[in-house]
Amino acid sequence: MKVTKSLCPECHDLIEAVIFEEHGKMHIEKTCRVHGTYRDIYWGDARLYHRFAKYLHNGCGVADNTTSNNGRCPQDCGICGEHKTSTILANIDITNRCNQQCPICFANATVSGYLYEPTMELIRGMMEGLKNQEPVKCHALQFSAGEPTVREDLFQIIRMAKEMGFKHIQLATNGKKLANDVEYCRNLIESGLKTVYLQFDGITPEPYIATRGFNTLPEKLKAIQNCREAEMPIDLVPTVVRGINDHQLGDMIRFVADNIDIIKGLNIRTVSFAGRINAAQRIRQRITIPDVMKNIEDQTDGMIAMDDFYPVPFILPLSHLADVMSDIHNVQFSVNPHCGSGAYIYVDEKKNLIPVKRFVDVEGLFEYIDELAIEVGAANHLKTYFRWKGLKKLSRGIKQHVDTSRVPEGIDFAKMFLNLLKDRSGDSTKVFHKRMMLVGIMHFRNCSKNQLFC
Ligand code: SF4
Ligand SMILES: [Zn+2]
Ligand SMILES: [Zn+2]
Repeated sequence: MKVTKSLCPECHDLIEAVIFEEHGKMHIEKTCRVHGTYRDIYWGDARLYHRFAKYLHNGCGVADNTTSNNGRCPQDCGICGEHKTSTILANIDITNRCNQQCPICFANATVSGYLYEPTMELIRGMMEGLKNQEPVKCHALQFSAGEPTVREDLFQIIRMAKEMGFKHIQLATNGKKLANDVEYCRNLIESGLKTVYLQFDGITPEPYIATRGFNTLPEKLKAIQNCREAEMPIDLVPTVVRGINDHQLGDMIRFVADNIDIIKGLNIRTVSFAGRINAAQRIRQRITIPDVMKNIEDQTDGMIAMDDFYPVPFILPLSHLADVMSDIHNVQFSVNPHCGSGAYIYVDEKKNLIPVKRFVDVEGLFEYIDELAIEVGAANHLKTYFRWKGLKKLSRGIKQHVDTSRVPEGIDFAKMFLNLLKDRSGDSTKVFHKRMMLVGIMHFRNCSKNQLFC
């Protein structure tokens, strides 16, 4: 049993909560003095919960930031010293206007009743704040909204981010504008955009009719085609709700495999609920990260198994090594292990799905990398020599943990991975991702009252 803090879904007061195991699942229970007791499923698989828990790691947080006025973090603090992870991917909402009117929406200006749209100068100020964060500077941005493409000055905003030195800039969009105009996609890439995060709830009309009020699938397909012509990489982002699109996860993965030339990942968001919601509806539609993993295993006939997934902080050894091999603090993926999970899948020429874990001893490799980081770090007075020696050892270590008899035909995984770690440039990333798909699952979207989705 774990005691933690949570929010009352009704008054948003900070209250104590317990997470405990029962009948093979993890549950959360919390009581607000005014609004009573709430109980819900926290993680649908207790075994996986414990497997992931061992990767819990406190990051470095953000130095010299705001303070909590009344000790009520996260309600009144911004990012105070209680927050243990620095900003990895900053989300900047640039408007709450939207060019769609989904019946379930509570975000856009039409239904919220107010307009939120920061000026260029305000956005610049936000970005300066991110660039100046210590001890780790933020280099990755996502522009979201409402619908960010309704802003006429979006290209200038992206260009400003590029000029300020952000290395990764992505755009969360419903794809409507991209579907209408291939030139628009070309302008996005010319402005400095690296990736489109495309809202994509399934491969048939039904999920869209449920979530968006009409069949937007043809528009999504056209947006993908236009991005392909403009050579703009895409990640698909479905919000998964039990009973609406959880049966299409395998098909969505196969859809990505069929379009691996331009679609690089499936970033699944499990719907979450906030506010007063009827308990029966919540239980009916609630889906947690392990439930999604199980569905993926079932719907891909075991080609991708639950054990192929790892929590986000599993890759922390890469940050440790990058820190000692360079003179800067690198971003640490120290988010809570139960907030996100992912698996890298190689898509071969015949569209077979081959998880990297099937030909790499990933746990052994990451332990090796962590030990190497300690070794190189301990000798940092001889930096140049040890960095060179460290690279040689890294190359040997990667090879030792790759099962060459099982590596898919036509790739030299050890070389690709080493190059990716060595220079992390656009070119090595492109080579690595040429036929590599990331399936990521994250708690993300909120549901307010009886409304779902973004
Ligand atoms: S749910 Fe998203 S796409 Fe739909 S109206 Fe709201 S902001 Fe726009
Ligand atoms: Zn309450
Ligand atoms: Zn705080």
